[in-house]
This record gives sequence, structure tokens and C-alpha cells, in this order.
Amino acid sequence: MLALQDFRSKLLAQRRELFRQAAQTEEDLLWLETDVEREAEERGQTETMVRLLDRLDERAKREIEAIDLALTRIEAGSYGRCEGCGKDIPVARLQAVPTATTCLACGEAGEALKR
Ligand SMILES: [Zn+2]
Repeated sequence: MLALQDFRSKLLAQRRELFRQAAQTEEDLLWLETDVEREAEERGQTETMVRLLDRLDERAKREIEAIDLALTRIEAGSYGRCEGCGKDIPVARLQAVPTATTCLACGEAGEALKR
């Protein structure tokens, strides 16, 4: 059994860290401290969030998307299951890459397809 709560906190911390890069004003920082977790639960986009997202580069945006997807999968109960073969993703892989949606073999197969 996966310690989902641990992965959830880890993902939320990563997400907060990404947004922090874009935070410039006191208001932004305050939002980070108080609202990120609630936002993640509500999936709402506040003005502050939109503004911060705007300042982030593509890579950071993609990371936040991947984190949101992982959080959605935790809520849906599908977190840790490979999207490719349907088997459980090894915990070690999830610990290294908490946003992983596939096992290593399927992930590599997917990468190979993109090339
Ligand atoms: Zn797989």
C-alpha cells in the first residue's frame, strides 16, 4: 500500500516551490503560504495563480501540470498505477519521480515512440 499522504505532501511542496520562483510581491508570497493546498483541492485558478503561472517558463508550467495530474490521480485512486500496462509502478520509481504515470518500461517505450 502506498503512503499516498506522503506523496501528496511531496507533490504539493514541489508545486509550491515552483510557484515560489515566480512570486515577487508580498501578496504572492502570502498566497503561497496560505492558499496553494486549498487551491489544489478546489482546482480553482485565482488571479494570483494565473499571474504566477504567467511568469513561469514552459518547463515549470509543464511540471506544475504533471503535479496537478498526479494530485488528481491520487484523488481518483489511480495514483501509482501504470497508464501503459496497468500494473503498479514500483514505489522506488514514484519516490524518485512522484509525477510518474507509467512504469519505467512503459515510460521508455513512450519516449521511444516520440523519437
Ligand atoms: Zn507499464
